[in-house]
Amino acid sequence: RSHFDAEAIRADFPILQQEVNGHPLVYLDNAATTQKPEAVIEAISHYYRCDNANVHRGAHALSDRATVAFEQARERVAQFIGSPKASQLIWVRGTTEAINLVAQSWGRQQLKAGDRVLVSYLEHHSNIVPWQLVAAATGATVEPIPITVDGDIDLAAFDALLDERVKMVSVNHVSNALGTVNPVAEITRKAHAVGAKVMLDGAQATAHFPVDVVALDCDFYAFSGHKLFGPTGIGALWGRESLLEAMPPFLGGGEMIETVSFAGTTFNSLPFKFEAGTPNIAGAIGLAAAIDYLAGIDMNAAAEHELSLLEQSLELAKDVSGLRRIGNPAQSVGIFSFVLEGVHPSDLGMLLDQQGIAVRTGHHCTQPLMDYYQVPGTVRASYAMYNTAQDVERLFQGIHKAKRLFG
Ligand code: PMP
Repeated sequence: RSHFDAEAIRADFPILQQEVNGHPLVYLDNAATTQKPEAVIEAISHYYRCDNANVHRGAHALSDRATVAFEQARERVAQFIGSPKASQLIWVRGTTEAINLVAQSWGRQQLKAGDRVLVSYLEHHSNIVPWQLVAAATGATVEPIPITVDGDIDLAAFDALLDERVKMVSVNHVSNALGTVNPVAEITRKAHAVGAKVMLDGAQATAHFPVDVVALDCDFYAFSGHKLFGPTGIGALWGRESLLEAMPPFLGGGEMIETVSFAGTTFNSLPFKFEAGTPNIAGAIGLAAAIDYLAGIDMNAAAEHELSLLEQSLELAKDVSGLRRIGNPAQSVGIFSFVLEGVHPSDLGMLLDQQGIAVRTGHHCTQPLMDYYQVPGTVRASYAMYNTAQDVERLFQGIHKAKRLFG
């Protein structure tokens, strides 16, 4: 087992210090959303207590303070993913909005009948449906890249799909349903070789390992603050500057304009061109606080710790007859997705909840993937740095109890 001090980290998360249904809470639903450390809660609270004002247009002290905090947050988050410039980081509500922004803005401008968009069988619905919407409007097609039985993207099949009509390849960096870490740098190289652009859905990546958009060489990168120990309602789209410059606005309104008249409107510079309306100021500040919090943690040790929890799970799973883990243990973050013969995932989820254990059950917004495995859904335990070996033991006690109950 690793020597990472998960207990010390746990103490920073007030929500974890509670009982649920008479048992100490075991929170294993981190891929859905992570919990928030005191530092994040405090940063948001401080903002509303002391600095709240609208940004970028105030002629007063509070507005100046809010603007400075908001723009410093942008710099902090941009630096976190290795962006050359803060102006390449656009605030959005989350990964879903980021992908819709690219699909609608870039896609409507660039895609035409006969063009192809490739996604994979591993994708979250938020990386399928936005492309289907723009495909319906432009005549482009959306096609799935096959995967192997282990849940890895099939690179040979990907090669076979690539041609000059492929204009966009959009895949997740880490699968939320299985935990698969995809070889996104290699996928990007292959896509660029036929002239396609690459969008990466980083929703499940940023909480687990360092991300560098320049090293990945992708064209767009999206992630959500709430999966990264930050607040809900805030996330980021990173884009290559030349692409963002050439793209039309996504939403129209205040902040995103330079001048407005009935003869015609001109648009603001990056990143503001894509940020219509009053932004989630507290959310951005909270997300920057989450990143500052993470800066004090050895993320490599945290990743190792999470993997040790996955290994422990795989080991304990050997003693559970009828348990099938889905996914590749060698290419994974700490996500343990499984089915148990004779027990429906939602029944198991309910029994675990009665014992204070929070997991996610169902299709995880990845219906094509569930269809591929011919299962109605899975039970998913997703580990974060504050989970412990004891949490995993409690999960398996719960699984054994469910097996006894279901005979
Ligand atoms: N992609 C992946 C891989 C995800 O796990 C999620 C969240 N479950 C999303 C996209 C959507 O993120 P959000 O709901 O924060 O927009």
